[in-house]
Amino acid sequence: MNKERKLVIAGNWKMNKTVAEASDLVEGLLLDLKDVKEIDMVVCPPFTALAQVSQQILSTSLRLGAQNMSQHASGAYTGEISAQMLKEFSVRYVILGHSERRQFFHETDELVAIKAQAVHAASLRPIVCVGETLDERESGTTEKVIETQVRGSLAGLDAAKMADTIIAYEPVWAIGTGKTASTGQAQEVHAFIRRLLASIYDENTARLVRIQYGGSVKPNNARELMSQPDIDGALVGGASLEARSFAQIIRSCLN
Ligand code: PEP
Repeated sequence: MNKERKLVIAGNWKMNKTVAEASDLVEGLLLDLKDVKEIDMVVCPPFTALAQVSQQILSTSLRLGAQNMSQHASGAYTGEISAQMLKEFSVRYVILGHSERRQFFHETDELVAIKAQAVHAASLRPIVCVGETLDERESGTTEKVIETQVRGSLAGLDAAKMADTIIAYEPVWAIGTGKTASTGQAQEVHAFIRRLLASIYDENTARLVRIQYGGSVKPNNARELMSQPDIDGALVGGASLEARSFAQIIRSCLN
């Protein structure tokens, strides 16, 4: 597939997979994807499986991501995980502000922005999630909601850090529901985000930023979505839990 930006496809395993299950999944992925270089491939296991997965993907083209990170460096923050702790396992990417964290853990745009700064300060790369709910889409406020989230969640990043940040557009109504945004709906919002980045930063920065689509991406819809000019990858939930479907998604987007 001829893309302006290198595709980045990440699997968000959420709260799934024991260490043994994670190990099997990665073994399957490596069998299928060993030779793939054209796409940045990332797996984001739960924290408890990072050590295992990190060992398995050493010297391969799979990269490791975390699903969240504390904005603090260390100290009395029970239950939290710091950048330094992630770096011990060669984590490269950190998902921030996933809609489940916004909904169930009350994460705000302000907090996501602070975390994004901390992720960059540790030389890691954030994947910042934004997306409208069904009510917001139906009431015609999608662009307003996305603009507020993009401005708020990325506040304070300079142009260089912005260029090295991944945005994941994930319509909340399409996550885990089997409903995918149509390619037209997705491309429209991606193009809107890129225009917004050009107005906040500049054309060049906007051109460099990779914007993933997320929301029921499957082997049968990935290629069409990825062929849109402003869709530069995918954040995959359910279909990343099986080696076959995640590998098929990636393979379907080659050439
Ligand atoms: C997600 O949670 O990031 C996601 C896109 O999930 P799913 O692919 O299952 O819709």
